[in-house]
Formats: sequence, C-alpha cells, structure tokens
Amino acid sequence: MQRREQFDKLSRLRQSLRELLADLEKSLRVAFGRAPMIKGNVYELARKCGKPTCACARGERHRSMVLTWSHEGKSKLFSIPSERLSELQEKSEEYLRFRRARARVTEIGKKILGVMDRIEKLRREEP
Ligand SMILES: [Zn+2]
Repeated sequence: MQRREQFDKLSRLRQSLRELLADLEKSLRVAFGRAPMIKGNVYELARKCGKPTCACARGERHRSMVLTWSHEGKSKLFSIPSERLSELQEKSEEYLRFRRARARVTEIGKKILGVMDRIEKLRREEP
C-alpha cells in the first residue's frame, strides 16, 4: 500500500473513532443519571371477566393499567393503582431508555474494536 493511501485510510479511521466516541458519550448519558427505574412495560389491559351478563361480554371490556415484566422466563403482571400510574410510567420509561442505551453501548464497543483492529493493521510494521 502506498504511503499516501495508508495516510488517508488512517485519517478516515481516526475520524470514525472520534464519531464513535461522541456516540458512546451520548449513549452513556443515561448511565450517569440518578432517576430510579422499574423493569417492565406499562400498558392498558382490556379484558373480559367471563360473566355472560356483564357489559364486557358485549364488547365493553374491563380496562386497567398494568406493569408487565419477565422474571426467570415467566411473565409477571402488576395492576397499577391509579395514583401510581405516572410514577411507574416514568420509571419504566427510564428503564427502557437505560436498556436501549446499554444495547447501543455494546454495539458501539464492537465497532470501536473493529476500527482499532484496522488501525493496528495499517500501522504495524515488520521489525
Ligand atoms: Zn365483565
């Protein structure tokens, strides 16, 4: 490989590394936070109770807010009292943000190692 070509490649790789580093810093922001988190998703459950005379049998399902999460492979469910809804929503969202960031950090970490390996190849010389 020509000197010039090698120089350009290394320069591009350093630029990618700087971009990945900025991305990493951004992704790690949530880890520096202090907000509490709760594992799980908050959503509305609409169910039928099974009584044939109940309004739910005619389509007006019983609606309630629940938090669900999986624990040791099993799906767990917690019925949310209305006074705790916004609190649990916030904490669950924080948890999802955290987990998304964690996945992103893994991805960026792999890319950084890939760039480092390419830099090593370009800079290494024989004795
Ligand atoms: Zn019912």
